[in-house]
Amino acid sequence: MAEDDEVFRRARERLVERLKSLGYIRSDRVAEAMLKVPRHEFVPEDLRDRAYVDSPLPIGKGQTISAPHMVALMTELLDPRPGHRVLEVGAGSGYHAAVVAELVKPDGRVITVERIPELADFARNNLKKTGYDRFVKVLVGDGTKGYPPEAPYDRILVTAGAPDVPESLLEQLKPGGRMVIPVGDWHMQELWLVEKTEDGEIRRRRHGGCAFVPLIGEEGFQEPES
Ligand code: SAM
Repeated sequence: MAEDDEVFRRARERLVERLKSLGYIRSDRVAEAMLKVPRHEFVPEDLRDRAYVDSPLPIGKGQTISAPHMVALMTELLDPRPGHRVLEVGAGSGYHAAVVAELVKPDGRVITVERIPELADFARNNLKKTGYDRFVKVLVGDGTKGYPPEAPYDRILVTAGAPDVPESLLEQLKPGGRMVIPVGDWHMQELWLVEKTEDGEIRRRRHGGCAFVPLIGEEGFQEPES
């Protein structure tokens, strides 16, 4: 077991070095967070050997854990700081929430909303076995409407592709806050950094193409008929 951990740790170091050399990781803070969070504890048992390959992996129910370079890029853009309250939409495996928790702890919190109950359970278990459950709360629901009881948020991270920026999420973002969200169609999107200035003005900047699973909900895409 300890031997395994050592093998995974070395694989994680190589992955982080590669993401730095490719420019996805730009700060020491994000490098340290990605070095600490054991991605192999957030993927299905039979895929552990591929946990440190830079690729998305299936996590069941037709969903994926995002590729490490996408986690790095989104986290750099989000720039979570100690003490921040962060809303994530799309808990999936819980991995990205754990990386953000590393950056906001000890006083900050991550609230992550997942629409598929089985995946919310998967995320909860993964966060518990790695100790991140102290900083991350997993909720089941439609995250396109945000989570008003804990709003406003310093940061909002959306990890599924949206047709547009949900109005509820804009409302729940603090003045001076940032949101990172893929916006586009069902299969292909662009990564947007959305900033709300202190006087409430909204600024959007585009950061390249990406391909996320769709954000399905009241302020997202409609659920396909089965
Ligand atoms: N952040 C995740 C991780 O670290 O593993 C990866 C998320 S995966 C790419 C996108 C997730 O968004 C899926 O688990 C999907 O079920 C979820 N999702 C889609 N629409 C949603 C909605 N309206 N509210 C909450 N979760 C949603």
